[in-house]
Amino acid sequence: MPLLVMKFGGTSVADLDRIRNAARKVQREVERGYDVIVIVSAMSGKTNELVGWVEQTSPLFDAREYDAVVSSGENVTAGLMALTLQEMGVPARSWQGWQVPINTTSTHSAARLVDIPRANIDQKFAEGMKVAVVAGFQGLSPEGRITTLGRGGSDTTAVAFAAAFEAERCDIYTDVDGVYTTDPRITSKARKLPRIAFEEMLELASLGAKVLQTRSVELAMRYKVRLRVLSSFEDGDETSGTLICDEDEIMESKVVNGVASSRDEAKITLVTVEDRPGISAAIFAPLADAGVNVDMIVQNISEKDYDDHPGSVTDMTFSVPINQVERAKRAMEEARQSGQITYDELVVDTEVAKVSVVGIGMRSHAGVAARMFKALADENINIKVISTSEIKISVLIDRKYMELAVQALHDAFELEQA
Ligand code: ADP
Ligand code: ASP
Ligand code: MG
Repeated sequence: MPLLVMKFGGTSVADLDRIRNAARKVQREVERGYDVIVIVSAMSGKTNELVGWVEQTSPLFDAREYDAVVSSGENVTAGLMALTLQEMGVPARSWQGWQVPINTTSTHSAARLVDIPRANIDQKFAEGMKVAVVAGFQGLSPEGRITTLGRGGSDTTAVAFAAAFEAERCDIYTDVDGVYTTDPRITSKARKLPRIAFEEMLELASLGAKVLQTRSVELAMRYKVRLRVLSSFEDGDETSGTLICDEDEIMESKVVNGVASSRDEAKITLVTVEDRPGISAAIFAPLADAGVNVDMIVQNISEKDYDDHPGSVTDMTFSVPINQVERAKRAMEEARQSGQITYDELVVDTEVAKVSVVGIGMRSHAGVAARMFKALADENINIKVISTSEIKISVLIDRKYMELAVQALHDAFELEQA
């Protein structure tokens, strides 16, 4: 039997009517002759509520219990989806992660998939089951504890099942009808892309476009999964939505194909650190040990002859996810106390956002940075930190200008026109 993976995100299973609507889409594929693996998210808002409960109960929570709690939203929707399908006459049953089992590492709240043995689900398909409904986002650690795959992790569950079961396609049903040139909630000029290259999607996802979890794109790229994003609220066919595919399957491409933004950023500056060989290692090793994900880094030009600093000194600035600021501060204070580093002051700016432009065309075109900086300058937006890679340029700016910056860049790179 040909097999499809269909993933429904939070808004697509937000209530019983929406679950019924999603189930009808599944039923249609079964009628077309497919076996289907359905991956469900929790009802929209549910995971946030569960996270809130954990944080209120225990500020420095045990990550294993965090996972036990926050994974539960998916258990509810998986059961309800299976019941809804059964009511429609479609042979279906639900599976929690541990029942499959979805084996993961034991990095709680950010576990990585290890493997998904097919035997249990294959046996049920062989016995006549048409749909396996699997709770997304969750797995099982080698220690036998429940894990979760990081926020947005159901996308990754879906792609992993598509790879493990050699699915014809992995369809990600969500509240937008595809991947756009930028978040359609930020500008109505955002344009839906019929296709986007894996590399570009990977950058957009990791730079803040939450339409797909970054890991899901990595897995799809590695295992050559045909991955598609489409609307759960519209009727479509095989050509609906956006196909994430190899670069060479795309005819037309611009230098820049997308703008991403992330508001969950913070900037930390260590003022007057010693400027000597080994200082960067002395700063960033303790941050890494504390599990802080440092993103952008700038070091100022050294300044000599400060009255109270005999050697030369510099300032070191870096960005971290906003929810890791406390951890980063603690790591720096401990490094200072133990004498690994010295600094006069640690300054935190939590009112920043990151805006990025992405395009594989940047590999062979010069001038993208200049165009980006000019567009921001024309709006009087000050750039605090810059970082670049082969196919992206990111800037850190004041958060209050994030939407304006996205709109200005979308215009500057003429993304509205195909
Ligand atoms: P789900 O609950 O279905 O997983 P998400 O909220 O995780 O849905 O992701 C869909 C959202 O991603 C959209 O509502 C949209 O606001 C946002 N988004 C951000 N960037 C983009 C983009 N470039 N294209 C499409 N959607 C985007
Ligand atoms: N429910 C989880 C979250 O909100 C996983 C997901 O929806 O993909 O992050
Ligand atoms: Mg999501």
